[in-house]
Amino acid sequence: MMCEYLKTKEEYKDCILFYRLGDFYEMFFDDALLVSKELELTLTGKDCGLEERAPMCGIPFHAADTYINRLIEKGYKVAICEQVEDPKKAKGLVKREVIRVVTPGTTLDATSLDESRNNYLMSIVSIADRFGCAIADITTGDCFLTEVPGSQKLIDEINKFSPAEIICNDSFFMSGVDTDDLRNRLGICIFSLDAWYFDDDTCRKELKEHFHVSNLEGLGISDYDSGIIAAGALFLYLKETQKTALSQMTTIRPYTAERYMLIDSSSRRNLELVETLREKQKRGSLLWVLDKTKTAMGARTLRSFVEQPLIDSAEINRRLTALEELNENPMLRDELREYLNPIYDLERLVSRISFKSANPRDLVAFASSLEMIPYIKQILKDFQAPILKEIYEDMDSLEDITGLIKSAIVDEPPLAQKDGGIIREGFNEDVDKFRSARTDGKKWLTELEARERERTGIKSLKIKYNRVFGYALEVTNTFRELVPENYIRKQTLANAERYITEELKNLEDMILGAEDKLYALEYQLFSDVRDKVGMEVVRIQRTAKAIAGLDVFASLALVAERNHYVRPKVNEGGVIDIKGGRHPVVEQMIDNDMFIANDTYLDSSKKRISIITGPNMAGKSTYMRQTALIVLMAQVGSFVPADKATIGIVDRIFTRVGASDDLASGQSTFMVEMTEVANILRNATSKSLLILDEIGRGTSTFDGLAIAWAVIEHISNTKLCGAKTLFATHYHELTELEGKLSGVTNYCIAVKEKGDDIVFLRKIVQGGADKSYGIQVAKLAGVPDTVINRAKELVEELSDADITAAVKDLTSPKKKPKVEMDMAQMSLFDTVQDNDIIEELKGIDIGNLTPMEALNTLYNLQNKIKNRW
Ligand code: ATP
Repeated sequence: MMCEYLKTKEEYKDCILFYRLGDFYEMFFDDALLVSKELELTLTGKDCGLEERAPMCGIPFHAADTYINRLIEKGYKVAICEQVEDPKKAKGLVKREVIRVVTPGTTLDATSLDESRNNYLMSIVSIADRFGCAIADITTGDCFLTEVPGSQKLIDEINKFSPAEIICNDSFFMSGVDTDDLRNRLGICIFSLDAWYFDDDTCRKELKEHFHVSNLEGLGISDYDSGIIAAGALFLYLKETQKTALSQMTTIRPYTAERYMLIDSSSRRNLELVETLREKQKRGSLLWVLDKTKTAMGARTLRSFVEQPLIDSAEINRRLTALEELNENPMLRDELREYLNPIYDLERLVSRISFKSANPRDLVAFASSLEMIPYIKQILKDFQAPILKEIYEDMDSLEDITGLIKSAIVDEPPLAQKDGGIIREGFNEDVDKFRSARTDGKKWLTELEARERERTGIKSLKIKYNRVFGYALEVTNTFRELVPENYIRKQTLANAERYITEELKNLEDMILGAEDKLYALEYQLFSDVRDKVGMEVVRIQRTAKAIAGLDVFASLALVAERNHYVRPKVNEGGVIDIKGGRHPVVEQMIDNDMFIANDTYLDSSKKRISIITGPNMAGKSTYMRQTALIVLMAQVGSFVPADKATIGIVDRIFTRVGASDDLASGQSTFMVEMTEVANILRNATSKSLLILDEIGRGTSTFDGLAIAWAVIEHISNTKLCGAKTLFATHYHELTELEGKLSGVTNYCIAVKEKGDDIVFLRKIVQGGADKSYGIQVAKLAGVPDTVINRAKELVEELSDADITAAVKDLTSPKKKPKVEMDMAQMSLFDTVQDNDIIEELKGIDIGNLTPMEALNTLYNLQNKIKNRW
């Protein structure tokens, strides 16, 4: 057996091998050492013909799922090796085979899956400077394919899908993608596969075979050369690990990243789209506000909507029109939601059906879900919005499937599949026959019991059943003498004996035989029904997608109504004009109606850069994020928290918000900030929206101011010209740029001073602030009075008048607009040091110098300056 074990292990080197031995899965050698440590199991040993015993540890087979999940969560793969023949019938060694490899991206276990999000496996192939990507969720049958140029774009895609597992070719590790970051920060398991997985011909053949097509044009993916390889490798890997035909993977959808708004990974995090920045929780994120979906499919779809806002105004408006119509008919909308409520996760159910792991209860849940569809269609049929009409068309009532399940399976079947009680009466003649034999048998037993009591005079005589010994006549010890001769003793109990007779044995054979046959037949019929349902996977998946879509629109519509959102005017006009905008999440978090609404106006010419100043805590970050979120919501196809909004579509949103250390990846706070700035300036376009919060705060005042200034100049003057920018800063000196740099307007958030304290008005007004009130905010935060008082003294002394004066000087019309910043710094600090040189120059009597002396003097002066600078 150990030889067989080692052979199997050799084939599954990169997995932990769960080797079935009777009622246990055992692990040996290194696997045992590793698993006993990871799962805190007792390590034992087994003789295996070697000098030393082989390390071994085991787990009971019925508890395997829990242990497998824990190993998967820790990033391991588990190969499950089962006994594939009945040990009682086997001659010699029982035959064993690996029946499945469980990996983080392919787990099917319901307890470890979050129903509101997909569990993606991503295949990446790095070829030259391009990446082919294929993404699949085998629990729902979703599958996508794309190609991206460059590692930055790839990271954006990885962040968008946040897969549980990545499989890749070796070159991926040398492509500039920080795989440690993916592992540590995003918790993604990455496995590289052998080169043969990525062979072009093999991959094409695999895809053609799987989708039953003669060429890849039919799938619409023939233009994606490296995408095809990624997808081929993905399917090869899935077949290797799942060992099934993957019949739930019915489509592969190609897409281009350009179809969606580009949001880089740090902006995704900063804007808290699906989880909060710090706690990584849904509560407090945009999704938390928007998600009132009723079904798991809807929840997943909404998440993908939020993660992939659109950039095509027609497509966005189609969604908005659907919402509008649903809200014009609120009663019908709510009725639809009522019918959506009991619908189970059809996508995951149909995958379980394809994997043959669905139990009878799953099928009943499935049928009761499908029963809702005719009602939904009835309500939906009069809606006019094109998207809702499409949903209506795509929704198949699937009455044949409901009918089949309802006629075949009882209303409340047991969980176990092999103990009968599944098939409804009247569905199959044989089942009914076996059942009546069973019930008649029970009657026969009662009759026999009565007869024997009569015959023997043993009043307490009873017929009992036991799984091991079968049926027996039980006689308590008091009546022992009355036991007749034809009773054969079978079992002795504490105060009774059990016997069998010829007649009882015959009855037992009839009854138990019928039961075994009945159970086997019921299981067979149930499996047939499950397979028949499995054949309709395409229709079911299309319907599931339609239900998911309807759920999303009904949820967005309801949220819009409850939270008083309005339909934005979405167009390609290039103007963002929001009246009375609110932050969708903050307004939910604070007391009723306490949120102060604000306007935003940004265009692509005169008012494209807003410099926002104002005290600490005034609400600058909130204001800027709210603008980004309103734009994003509009492009998702949601109504927005505002009185009125016109949204000119943006192609990308970039945010640089707040300080976040990334010590784990070896970057300081300032380094992180600058890396993000670099990324924004390199990748933004004239159609992007940039949210820049306090750029340059993480370094010295002069360096910070200089960088902030230069960034604004860059956005104003280069190819980015047109990009809409909100730029919050405590460098009040930057307000000098208004009127001097094209497109810049100053705004500030108003506060009221009350003696030593300040009152936050949270209202944005045109103009610049000249104070940050940092000390007042520190006081509010509870910094000790001694520190506050000392700070006040110091602030008087450290008046920054000099800096402001210098900046005024730099922006005066006499100077060239492009300013050398280090010269500006020099002029502020270093004139004092240069006085001696100036004095020396003044003192030179030029009339009395020989040309040689003049040259020497010049040489000396130059040297002095060189040494200083
Ligand atoms: P700092 O410069 O110190 O980073 P800030 O100006 O960016 O501060 P925010 O973080 O945006 O200030 O806001 C501080 C708090 O004020 C928020 O947590 C929020 O609770 C509240 N707030 C902000 N804007 C509003 C508003 N419009 N209405 C009501 N409360 C608001």
